[in-house]
Amino acid sequence: MSKPEDWTKYAACAQLVELGQATYNDWYPRYGDDSHRILTINQAKRVCKGCPVRKECLELAMKVDLEYSSRTKRYGYGIWAGYTGSERWAIYNAKGIGEKAKEPSPV
Ligand code: SF4
Repeated sequence: MSKPEDWTKYAACAQLVELGQATYNDWYPRYGDDSHRILTINQAKRVCKGCPVRKECLELAMKVDLEYSSRTKRYGYGIWAGYTGSERWAIYNAKGIGEKAKEPSPV
């Protein structure tokens, strides 16, 4: 992978969506109604855990989360790299990154 943006084409979530075996809503369980979902939260998390670009996804999630949190004082949301927003924040805090957000995200 030579360019940073190239990793997205290896994303397991994108491949399942392309095959009609998942929808992007599966990774954003906070939004929309359940009729637009195929996977449960735990199934979506399991897809992430086997994803070949999980490390890159977590790095991007951190950038997005820190920017979102600095504006809103809330955790980021959605499942990225197999973690919910609250779970990612626990990782950042354990690494000494980011302030504690005031409000956790639902998922
Ligand atoms: S780690 Fe999960 S959310 Fe991230 S690209 Fe892979 S499957 Fe998608």
